[in-house]
Amino acid sequence: KPLVAIVGRPNVGKSTLFNRLVGRRIALVEDEPGVTRDRHYADAEWEGRAFTLIDTGGFVPGEKDTLLKQVREQAQFAVEECDVIIFVVDARAGMTTADEAVANYLRKSGKPVVVAANKLDNETGQMQSLAGEFFRLGLGDVNAMSAEHNLGMGSLMDSVVSKLPEKVEGEDAEAPPDDGKIRVAIIGRPNVGKSTLVNAILKEKRVVTSEVAGTTRDPIDSEVTYKGNQLILTDTAGIRRKKTIAHQVEQYSVIAALKVLERSDVAVLLMDATEPAVDQDAKLAGLSMDRGRALVIVVNKWDLIAEDKRRQEAFREDLKIALKFVGYAPVIFTSALHGSKVEKVVDVAVELAKQFRFRAPTPQLNKLLDYMVDNNPAPIVKSKPLRLYYIAQVAAAPPTFALTCNEPQGVPDMYKRYITNQIRKTFDLRVPIRLLFRERPGK
Ligand code: GDP
Repeated sequence: KPLVAIVGRPNVGKSTLFNRLVGRRIALVEDEPGVTRDRHYADAEWEGRAFTLIDTGGFVPGEKDTLLKQVREQAQFAVEECDVIIFVVDARAGMTTADEAVANYLRKSGKPVVVAANKLDNETGQMQSLAGEFFRLGLGDVNAMSAEHNLGMGSLMDSVVSKLPEKVEGEDAEAPPDDGKIRVAIIGRPNVGKSTLVNAILKEKRVVTSEVAGTTRDPIDSEVTYKGNQLILTDTAGIRRKKTIAHQVEQYSVIAALKVLERSDVAVLLMDATEPAVDQDAKLAGLSMDRGRALVIVVNKWDLIAEDKRRQEAFREDLKIALKFVGYAPVIFTSALHGSKVEKVVDVAVELAKQFRFRAPTPQLNKLLDYMVDNNPAPIVKSKPLRLYYIAQVAAAPPTFALTCNEPQGVPDMYKRYITNQIRKTFDLRVPIRLLFRERPGK
């Protein structure tokens, strides 16, 4: 899917716009019930065209930087990684130097830009005149709008979609191609050992590893036959821009994952055993969950704490909390450098790829439904007991189940979790599972 970035200085309304454009969609997608995380990217759709929207304010925080530097970095990031840029300005506050600086940069880049003149709440014709000032930026059309009051959103989206690159076949597909090949994305922060792991798997130095975080490498897809399975390994360490600004490097691992996960069956998330789980690890794990991809958590460099039982224990504890929301994912402790447990990573990835495309036999599903209804008292929804009538698997990759019931909107998270866990247990699935709740047809 194409990427659309929202840039602009703080407080112009980037997050409000982001939430406005994707809010509904986020509410609809239930990956793991009850999990809410701060998302700075989401899938959106307009006039039948799907794209991924990124709020760069969340992606490139740069707390310590000056305002101008912050916005410039956001813009740079957007120019290098995204297809269309929504440049948000505060039309009530008027033009600022930061706006002009960013506009200059964007104009020179040649990337398609849509100017969103935000905070124009009244409809008295003042809108156009206040927005008009921003024509001077030389970025073309200026869309007068109010994200907060939901005004002018349609024409803004029309402009965005008209500037997207031509549609490529298969870009909207939810699932990676089902051609018998297993696509494995190796994701993780810089320097955790992604390339080293890929090398260890390939058992030949086809990928250049480096001690320096942020060294430029090209993204590499390696095809390898392993125990009769055809694997395609993508080392996301290669998806990195040329002139990296130090603190941005980690953000790039998320973008790299965002670009690769769509066409992968399994994500192998590497972590560094010598560093406790950080926000960035959780973001990457969350992204694999958002994308509904199978996940293997690999704690690499285990050799470095091999002698230290206390640190091992501390790491395990920390991991349990930080990545609780992907509790279904297997965890493997490796030393890619010494080849320890590397084979296990591949074995597990292959197994998860099979589970990812699992299809449950209908009789067994029906039996499971009976069991669930008998064994867990149905919750009361809108002062009526929830009734589940049917269950059916409506998709694989990831396994997606539809439940027909009397109150599809009101199923409590706890009960969703119960159902998810029962499905996992019954079919021995350690991949994300999606649930849809539907009303009885004809009702
Ligand atoms: P990437 O940025 O995630 O691709 O990381 P690299 O594969 O380039 O590895 C970064 C550094 O960590 C290199 O110096 C590797 O030799 C080292 N490294 C990778 N895996 C291990 C490991 O299992 N144990 C130890 N001790 N070092 C490792």
